Amino acid sequence: MSPPGGAGEAAGALTGLGPGDAPRPARTLGDLLVPLVEGRGPLLVVSDFDGTLARIDPDPTGAVIDPLARRALRRLAGLAAADPSRLRLVVLSGRTAPDVARRVRVGGLRYLGNHGLEGGRLPRGTRAELLRVGLEPWLEPFVAPARRLGEAVARQIPEPWLFVEEKGPAVAFHYRTASSPAAARTAILAAIRAAEADPAIPPHGMVRLEGRRVVELRPADAGGKGAAMERLLEEEWPAAALVLGDDRSDAEAFRVVAAARDLGRLRGLNVAVEAAGETPAEVGAAADLAVAGPHEAARLLSTLADRLAVAVARDR
Ligand SMILES: [Mg+2]
Repeated sequence: MSPPGGAGEAAGALTGLGPGDAPRPARTLGDLLVPLVEGRGPLLVVSDFDGTLARIDPDPTGAVIDPLARRALRRLAGLAAADPSRLRLVVLSGRTAPDVARRVRVGGLRYLGNHGLEGGRLPRGTRAELLRVGLEPWLEPFVAPARRLGEAVARQIPEPWLFVEEKGPAVAFHYRTASSPAAARTAILAAIRAAEADPAIPPHGMVRLEGRRVVELRPADAGGKGAAMERLLEEEWPAAALVLGDDRSDAEAFRVVAAARDLGRLRGLNVAVEAAGETPAEVGAAADLAVAGPHEAARLLSTLADRLAVAVARDR
């Protein structure tokens, strides 16, 4: 993986862009995007939200998209609308799809929430509140247990640092503001075990997924962002993929794209969006490149929009 670098900085060598593409020195992030922009499409851009398009906010309800990221996504959405065979855009978040759509507010994107369990396409010019998201029938039995587990853990931990995010068939316990994150995590796991021992909460068939200062319970068969990425590759048939993320579940998506690249199915670039002292090691290990925070990720998307606009004008 290359060291973090700004869009205008030297970014080091990029490896593994595609079969037959020998690793070569690259000067800027813009240069690294050339293999994604040139050549056969579509290019599938998949971005996480928290920690990737938005700085992590101590209050999960307060996360706000970087304004440059929104402008870049709007420009990209315009390019995708003009030529869908060139570009497809997806936001893939752990939040619910309606929640993340309201925070991004860009039409012309697919919004996949709950790590890919749900989602929908928001047409251009449509208010984010009108995103249509259906729950697959097999997920409905998880909604009540997830809510009950959320309530039970909240009862056991009446602390201001605990934020319980109810997400339909999943529930997330955030502990970002705890003075001791390790102790907070231990307390949450103990509270989940205690709730599971309560006969009022029958066996729920959910498994634990952990991220940056969050413990989540979700249906065992749901898969995560890796499974979501596999579905995206089947549905969108991209010739190239750019994936941005900051957490363990994003690393699953990185690995799916890297495997497809190794098989010669696509050209791919996985970008880890780093946070000082907090990025899980596996995220960097699975990425091709790291950028230093959401604003640098926004600059990368902005550079991508610049390059694509040039390519579209040239090919017209
Ligand atoms: Mg994230």
